[in-house]
Amino acid sequence: MAIRQLDSLTIGKIAAGEVIERPASAAKELVENALDAGATRIRVAIEGGGTTRIEVVDNGCGIAPEQLPLALSRHATSKLSAFEDLDSLRTLGFRGEALPSIGAVSHLVLRSRAAGEETGYQAVVSFGDSRQIAPVAAPEGTTVVVADLFENVPARRKFLRKPSTETAAIQRAIEAYALANPGVAFHLEIEGRKVFSTQGDGDPLSAAVTVLGSDVGNAAMPLAGLDESARVEGVRATGWICAPSVNRATRRSIVLFVNGRWIQNRTLTYALEEAYHTLLMVGRHPVAMISIEVDPSQVDVNVHPTKAEVKFVDERSVARAVARAVHATLATMPQPGVPRIAFADQGLVRFLPQPQSLPQTGWIAPAPVGRFEPYSSEPPQQIIRRDLPVLRVLGQAGATYIIAEGPEGIYLIDQHAAHERILYERFQTKLVAGEVERQPMLDPVVIDLAPEEVAIVEKSIDELRQLGFEIESFGDQSIVVRSVPTSVIGSDIPERIRLILGELAEGGAGNSWLDSVAISVACHTSIRAGQTLSLSEMRELVQQLEQTQHPRACGHGRPTMLQLTQDELEKQFGRK
Ligand code: ADP
Ligand code: MG
Repeated sequence: MAIRQLDSLTIGKIAAGEVIERPASAAKELVENALDAGATRIRVAIEGGGTTRIEVVDNGCGIAPEQLPLALSRHATSKLSAFEDLDSLRTLGFRGEALPSIGAVSHLVLRSRAAGEETGYQAVVSFGDSRQIAPVAAPEGTTVVVADLFENVPARRKFLRKPSTETAAIQRAIEAYALANPGVAFHLEIEGRKVFSTQGDGDPLSAAVTVLGSDVGNAAMPLAGLDESARVEGVRATGWICAPSVNRATRRSIVLFVNGRWIQNRTLTYALEEAYHTLLMVGRHPVAMISIEVDPSQVDVNVHPTKAEVKFVDERSVARAVARAVHATLATMPQPGVPRIAFADQGLVRFLPQPQSLPQTGWIAPAPVGRFEPYSSEPPQQIIRRDLPVLRVLGQAGATYIIAEGPEGIYLIDQHAAHERILYERFQTKLVAGEVERQPMLDPVVIDLAPEEVAIVEKSIDELRQLGFEIESFGDQSIVVRSVPTSVIGSDIPERIRLILGELAEGGAGNSWLDSVAISVACHTSIRAGQTLSLSEMRELVQQLEQTQHPRACGHGRPTMLQLTQDELEKQFGRK
């Protein structure tokens, strides 16, 4: 076959294939245009999973009548004049591709009245074919109606999911934009029924309550600002995160924005999840909306056809900013993850554990003590007072919590946090005595590290050795591990070491660097959530916990246990 130039309709359809993947991409592009136009009210209505109809109405700046044809032609934009402008881009659009692409694969009506114009004008494109522009009555702002999406692209139609799934994808996109733009009043309607209407009052938490419901909204905490010393230069993270009691089985409730753009990013998601760390059970994920601002020159927004991914010049710093902000926010919780006293009828709602994680009432988390204690020159005295009575182990729940009873009621013990506390105190004692138990590796392990990890190893090599990890550098980018603390035998050593280095890279949680390294090593060499334990292993663990100085909090200060007192049991069952 000879080489021929494609006709413009074909070119349009091919281009549309990239930009408009599915109905949700069209809805997203239209909402982004409305935001770029400075709208303070945006109404979205969809029918038939978005293929029947998507309508987006805004009260933004509008489009002047003589500009309407341009708005619909390819590579025409009011947002960019030269490629270099991308370095200072403040708008979401810049390619001038969305409207013509949607117009190539749908029946599109664009109606707009620019500020100050007497009347509105309407332009129509039907499957790539433009019609005359005509005056029409219209409110100030812009309305775009997209009907019969992909009707001329049967292949694309075939690959769409069922309408309810496509609807859910659109809803998720509109929710994300409504959450990240609390100053804009969003209204979403599906099949003629209102889904939500935000106030547009600028309050991110009120938007969260409206969009996600009061369960989530009330557990949301505004992201804490960072101290001078913790701040990451050039990166600002705002938004909110939910207390760990509100969590999900997927990562879909993690919403990330960069310079107003909704993005997916594994590194940032990982940084967020790492900060929740042992607060969530294995397989559960946080609920959060984090909006990141960086200088536009520090991010390349032109790397993905639907702009769903961006590339940072320095992704590590951005991740660090996220991790620190999340850490700081979680640290402000009344008691990590749990209320001081959770009686539902006392109106203490904000941090009440959700039913899926704990019984609704009655559990109390004893105030954690013994956080980040400095090492004294004396070995901490052993068992001077029993903070915890002798407990009888009854079983294990969710392969994560040990259920035990004692004279004072019933206890739920977090096996990971408990073991972490035991190891941390053991380190404290042994460090002073100079004899942390280590085991030489028969086959020394060689681990390749990232440059940041190498830097942390160099900074911490002495501390790690004191805690049982004998490490030597092995070339520029690798280390060889010659011995490890006994508690880590049998687990994936490179993985554990990377976790320790990763946490230390965030700054460390202790009073001194040795203390920070001890906290991290205790955390990442201990039993994990989700690990089934035998009765005797649980007994052993609880016995060791009973003998610690501060059995009720791990090295990070999170509670190791919840207690339901005898008194409370009797009250709840109406015996008293
Ligand atoms: P881009 O957003 O990349 O510029 P689009 O194809 O999405 O490209 O839109 C083309 C142009 O049409 C925009 O640059 C803008 O000037 C105008 N436009 C589109 N939607 C709106 C709107 N809702 N309000 C005002 N102007 C709009
Ligand atoms: Mg656009």
